[in-house]
Parts: sequence; C-alpha cells; structure tokens
Amino acid sequence: MDVDPGPSSLLEERVVTAIVESEAELVRLASDLIGFDTTARNPGDPPREEARLQEYLRARLDAVGADTDLWEPGPTGRGDRFVPDDLDFLGRPQLAARLAGHGGGRSLLLNGHIDAVSHEPIEQWSSHPLKAEIRDGELYGRGACDMKGGIASMLHALETLRRLGVRLGGDVVWCTNTDEESSGAGSYACVRHGVKADAGLCAEPTGFDVWLACRGGVNPHITIDGRPGHSEITHPHWQAGGPVNAIERYGLVLDAIRTIREDWRTRPDHLHPYLSPPDILTTVIRGGEWMVTYPSSCEITLSVQYLPGSVDAAGTGQAVFDEVERRINAAAASDSWLAEHPLRWDWPCDIVPAEVPDDHPVVALALGAAATVGRTGVATGMDSWHDAAVYTRRADTPTVSFGPGDLRKAHTIDESVPVSDLVDFSAAVALALVRWCGVAGG
Ligand SMILES: [Zn+2]
Repeated sequence: MDVDPGPSSLLEERVVTAIVESEAELVRLASDLIGFDTTARNPGDPPREEARLQEYLRARLDAVGADTDLWEPGPTGRGDRFVPDDLDFLGRPQLAARLAGHGGGRSLLLNGHIDAVSHEPIEQWSSHPLKAEIRDGELYGRGACDMKGGIASMLHALETLRRLGVRLGGDVVWCTNTDEESSGAGSYACVRHGVKADAGLCAEPTGFDVWLACRGGVNPHITIDGRPGHSEITHPHWQAGGPVNAIERYGLVLDAIRTIREDWRTRPDHLHPYLSPPDILTTVIRGGEWMVTYPSSCEITLSVQYLPGSVDAAGTGQAVFDEVERRINAAAASDSWLAEHPLRWDWPCDIVPAEVPDDHPVVALALGAAATVGRTGVATGMDSWHDAAVYTRRADTPTVSFGPGDLRKAHTIDESVPVSDLVDFSAAVALALVRWCGVAGG
C-alpha cells in the first residue's frame, strides 16, 4: 500500500496545523460529550441523556452549515429478525446530518455510537467517569475511547474545515446512533431512515488500524425440560413415572457444543484472512428450583459467532443456525427422554456480519490519512460485531472502523484515550474528507 510521507498540499498542511493548534477546543468537545450520561441500556431501562447529547451535536452541526435531522424512530415491531422485538426509542433520538458538497465529489459517512457501557462500579474509578479529566496526556472518562473521543475528533475535523473555509466537493453524511453496545438497533434504525453514502468511517477505537470485517452473532436460548421429584428417594425409570434431571441432560448439549466448536475451528471454509473462525459456547445457564428436588428445567444461552462468508442470499445466518440446532438436537435425541421431549429453542435477533474488500478505496483512504499524520495502521478485522457492519450490509455504504484509542481500554475502569490520538485522528479525518470528497475549486 502506498503511504503518504506527509501532507501532500498546502491545503492539507493548513488543515493539519489548524487541528494541532486547536487541541484545547477538541479536548473541551470530547469532555462535553463524556459529561452526558448515555449509559447503554438493559431491556426496560429508561433513557438517560441521549437526547441532550444529540441536541448538543445537532447545534454544532447546524453551526457548520449541515442540514440536521434528529428523530425518534418508532418502536421495533415483532418478527424483524435483525432487531429485538418491541424496542422503543422514546428519549433516544438518532441524529443524521448532511453537509452538502459543492459538487462533483464522493460522499463520506462519519458514524459513531453515543451509548457507552455502564461505569459501575463507580467507586473504583480514580476520577468521576462523567467528569473528563486529563492526566499525563490521557483523557479519562466513560466513553473516552469507546467512542465519544472519536466522535469529538470527527466533529472537530468538520468544524476546522469550516473555519478554514474549505469547500468540499462531495457531501459529508453524519450519523450518531444509539444502541450499539446493546443490540445494533440504533444503526439499523438509521439505515432504515435513509442514511447512506459512497463509503463510511466508524470511529471505533482501532488505534488507527482499519477494521474492515467483523463476525456476526446470535444468542439462542435453549430450554431443557425435566420432571420434578424428591431427590432423596429412589424412583422408577421416567417411563414408569419417575423424575428427570434437566441439569444432567445439559451434559449431552454441552458435548455437542464442544464437538461443533472443534469442527468449526478446523474447517477449511472457515479460514478468513482477518477474522477468527466461528465459535459457539454456553454463556448463561440456569436450572433447578429446590435443593432436594430433581430440576424440572435447565435453560441455557449460547454465544454463536459466524463469518461473513456464511451469510445467505437473504442476508441472514440461517444456514449456521440450522446447523447448530440440527446437530444439538441430534445429540440430545440419543437420550430417550429428550427424544420424546425435544429441546425448546428460541432464536433472538440475528446480528449479521459484514466485510469490506481490502482493496476498497476507503481502506487505503483511512490508512493513508493516518500515515500522513504519522500513524501507521494496518488493515485487519475485529472478531466482535460493531455498527460498521450495518452500514456496509444494509445501506450499501462500505464502512470501515477507524479511530483513536486502544480497544483494550474500552469498557474498563479508568477508560482513557491519549489526547494525541484525538488530535491525530481529527487531522486524519479532515485529510480523508479532503481526499475523498474533493475540494471545490481546488
Ligand atoms: Zn464502540
């Protein structure tokens, strides 16, 4: 890949210099965003300050001349396999904006999620997670790296271009959505609302790498039925009316899960240049009712991760899900009780994977812009799903994740991002906009 040695024009030099010189303003912006409590929801949680944060961003986007659109999507229905049922967005608006280009250039989506994971246990933090603080060149606070810092850097890039009077050729499409950490329903709502562009950047904390692929996932629930009875007495066979231990029946399911996992890890069609093989494991188990009663049920939740190559023509992971269900059911059916009382399956929403080809120009755009500001990143994958997949797959907008900070700091106590990362990322975004959208009259 060609790497730029430095800013390739006077304009680019001016842009980078202006961003470096306005570091304090960028830090204030990132700190303001950290100050809004936008803790990701558990089902049923009330909204927090999502609307206030989006209003704040809207006002600043208005000020740079963007057409802004802040809206509350309607509740999700039932049976849409890609989002949870009956999820409402009351108090959790999405924000889209379009900074119209002056003609001729390509459009670029700048995307970020405004939700941040819970900052509990708050007493373990060295400083208040919602009151940003700089120590030793690091900005601390919940969301500093995942990913309010990245959002601030993107906005600061737009504000700086505006201040310098740079007229981009193509449109800049802005989108800050909710619900990345919880379900992906926010970006999905934005895509349904019409957000799209010729390509996109999602400011996840990639440390200036480009994440061009991710795995998808689903978390099926399985209920194993048993039959209760006193645990301290001897019983007849279940066919003669005796009890059945649902927890012990889980052993068959677990063996099947392990077999599938080993098989998936070695299958040649599961080799991916940027992603780990698909995976399956038990993440939650609940069973039993009383210490001296045969457990009448055992419920488990699985984490199933699958590759972009397994997505079918309908855009789903159905073939993977069918394989999982078929193989586990077959193993369970070797038990006479389970053969007559089959496992009960519930498949929640399908979080679909995506990838952008590594020769897509948005990959070189991001890596080239980072290199210009002295950050050498690589094209790679991220096993864990993130919003870029939704814009890539559902909005026909090839979107890569590219942003400041170290993912290992995300979701931690004392989450932080280096201030120098914020500055360099902001400069890289500004350069990417100039290079991708073109400059009117330039
Ligand atoms: Zn994130």
